[in-house]
Amino acid sequence: MLKRIAVLTSGGDSPGMNAAIRAAVRTAIYNKIDVYGIKRGYAGLLEKDFVPLDLGSVGGILQRGGTILETARSEKFKTEEGLQLAVNNLREEKIDGLVVIGGDGSFRGALALFERGVPVVGVPATIDNDIGGTHFTIGFDTAVNTVIEALDKLRDTASSHERMFIVEVMGRESGWIALTAGLACGAESILIPEIGYDIEEILVRLRRGRNRGKTHSLIVVAEGVASASEIKDQIWDAGGFEMRVVVLGHIQRGGSPTAFDRMLASRLGAGAVDLLLNGEVGKMVGWENERVVSHTLEYSWKHKHTIDKELYTLAGVLSI
Ligand code: ADP
Repeated sequence: MLKRIAVLTSGGDSPGMNAAIRAAVRTAIYNKIDVYGIKRGYAGLLEKDFVPLDLGSVGGILQRGGTILETARSEKFKTEEGLQLAVNNLREEKIDGLVVIGGDGSFRGALALFERGVPVVGVPATIDNDIGGTHFTIGFDTAVNTVIEALDKLRDTASSHERMFIVEVMGRESGWIALTAGLACGAESILIPEIGYDIEEILVRLRRGRNRGKTHSLIVVAEGVASASEIKDQIWDAGGFEMRVVVLGHIQRGGSPTAFDRMLASRLGAGAVDLLLNGEVGKMVGWENERVVSHTLEYSWKHKHTIDKELYTLAGVLSI
């Protein structure tokens, strides 16, 4: 019988984390389970920064970006001593189920706790969309829409002033944001870490545009490929095109979650508590083929959710 669970958000924040907290808390209370929030992820777990959560404490947060529980990274948690302290703190507070909302690193931490006897489940929340076992992660859709809004605005001024922009978006190892937003905005070139880039090919596209009288252009680059200013210099040196650089940065992490992310977070937050109730621990919840599914925590990094190469090819065809 589950009596008391705890919820934490960890690693990089993403829009929709609050909606996931709310769903987990309310599903637990509906099932007569007490809920604690742990502040600042694993850092707060080590410092025993626990706060009781009731129905009201998660009111009015569904539409808010960020996370009311705050998030952090903790090196100490990764050590054996840190992990033991975390396990003891959960035991002392009589927590018999833990919901970890976060990305890849947070799931590795969750597995380390599970291996030390903690009944834990993971909820995939990161703007990178790179977690296996789910077709979407919480926050990705909102981040893509933020990028789209920026790209559309840049396109307006680019076409009015005959300007060319290189826009750097988030994604150290994952090209999902660059690819999806680039396709949705008709970017002339999309540079992602999974594929890499060839300056000559970018120049061919720019020349082709110029030859048919097109004087504006948008290039989207994921930060993991190179910085936008490096690409700008390479294009200038090799082809003589003058580009302007825009780095979108952390605005991609914030903002009110889209309808899709609110729905996803609500389903996955509730799904996590369902897993705990069923004793399906050491697992993550995911969203595949319109269903809440579960996989082991290891599955999330052993079957990384990599970009759809067909989408990349399509983006190239449509922006010819
Ligand atoms: P994200 O969850 O967004 O990928 P991080 O990679 O920063 O974020 O991970 C968040 C936290 O999870 C780290 O600060 C660390 O405390 C914990 N963590 C990450 N990797 C491991 C690991 N291999 N073992 C134990 N804990 C880990």
